[in-house]
Amino acid sequence: MATINSNFLKLKAGYLFPEIGRRVKAYTESAPDKAARIIRCGIGDVTEPLPSAVRDAMHKAVDEQGDRATFKGYGPEQGYEFLRQAIVDNQFQGLGISADEVFISDGSKCDTGNILDIFGKGNTIAITDPVYPVYVDTNVMAGNTGDADDNGAYAGLLYMPCTAVNNFVADVPSEKADLIYLCFPNNPTGAVATREQLTAWVAYAKANKAIILFDAAYEAFIQDADIPRSIYEIEGAKDCAIEFRSFSKNGGFTGVRCAYTIIPKSVNAFTEDGTAVPLHQLWSRRHSTKFNGASYPVQAGAAAVFSEEGKQQVATLIEGYMGNAKLLREACIALGLQVFGGENAPYVWVGCPEGVTSWGMFDKMLQEAQVVITPGSGFGSAGEGYFRISAFNSRENVLEVCERLKNLIK
Ligand SMILES: *Cc1c(COP(=O)(O)O)cnc(C)c1O
Repeated sequence: MATINSNFLKLKAGYLFPEIGRRVKAYTESAPDKAARIIRCGIGDVTEPLPSAVRDAMHKAVDEQGDRATFKGYGPEQGYEFLRQAIVDNQFQGLGISADEVFISDGSKCDTGNILDIFGKGNTIAITDPVYPVYVDTNVMAGNTGDADDNGAYAGLLYMPCTAVNNFVADVPSEKADLIYLCFPNNPTGAVATREQLTAWVAYAKANKAIILFDAAYEAFIQDADIPRSIYEIEGAKDCAIEFRSFSKNGGFTGVRCAYTIIPKSVNAFTEDGTAVPLHQLWSRRHSTKFNGASYPVQAGAAAVFSEEGKQQVATLIEGYMGNAKLLREACIALGLQVFGGENAPYVWVGCPEGVTSWGMFDKMLQEAQVVITPGSGFGSAGEGYFRISAFNSRENVLEVCERLKNLIK
């Protein structure tokens, strides 16, 4: 008899996006004349086309694959040296990261989930609330949790509430944790952590022999020069942190797929008897056993993000999205709402009007303005009373959304 991984049965049915889809469908059926007016500001996906520098590099790479002299079969599992070196030179200059500490993959979603392969059972996992759901669900699948309660909170996870009181940056907990997920700039709240806050986290990790899993997928959106872009800007982080980065949100690679994970050789975790083992060694083994490398044309395209032309084109994309975020922020402030995020991140995190729940606001925005937002409660119970507006949209759509917000019944 084949048995299953029964941890999967603990997973709460994917609730947020299916429920959004169901409500939008029900609304368009009840008001078919409004269907064409709907603008989606809900999904965390880019909208603008792939930069031409990237496309040109990919075309060239495809042509190389069509010629026996330049054809490439399996590449190195860890990724081509040309891309790993370009990443180090352009993203981690002066931080002491070397190209052999970079692992190229086809996405940060997979990396943040797969990383659990190299950690033992029984680790205490610290997760923020609200949170990017991947961190939670992959821990459920790995058997690191008990069952979920009625609020969707899993037994065994250490939840760190992020609220207006701590400006949506989790405080270092009083309990001991072994693995800590931090995401800055944050999805969904758009919050960023200061140097002091990250320094406190690194000190906590070192004191507890814990590992920080630092998701920097939105690094490129940071505008404030004082906000660290990498956890490795913090002294000591190279002993206790793994950083995840992606080309999805800066280069618009959500449909192309390329990301990378940094594991400094100095990051150790421990055997049950307390012997230190470098995580680099374990991830290298894991990656080369279970992954056969990102495709050559994709890696060539990713490297073009760091060409002069590519950098300019990416800067233009980011400027466009951040301009959208500014407009959305201002429109929500003008409505008298409490507004967070959107200054160093493509997400604006907004407090609902007094007495209105996250889903109540979702329905109001859909029915009165035909704008789809994401209810904050979908990211965790501490997200109740908030909603997320994504700046990933065309300027035209964003201007229209701002216009409609003005007329929203207060
Ligand atoms: C979009 C996103 C990523 C990137 O995922 P990919 O699989 O590389 O597309 C990673 N983390 C968070 C929090 C994200 O929102």
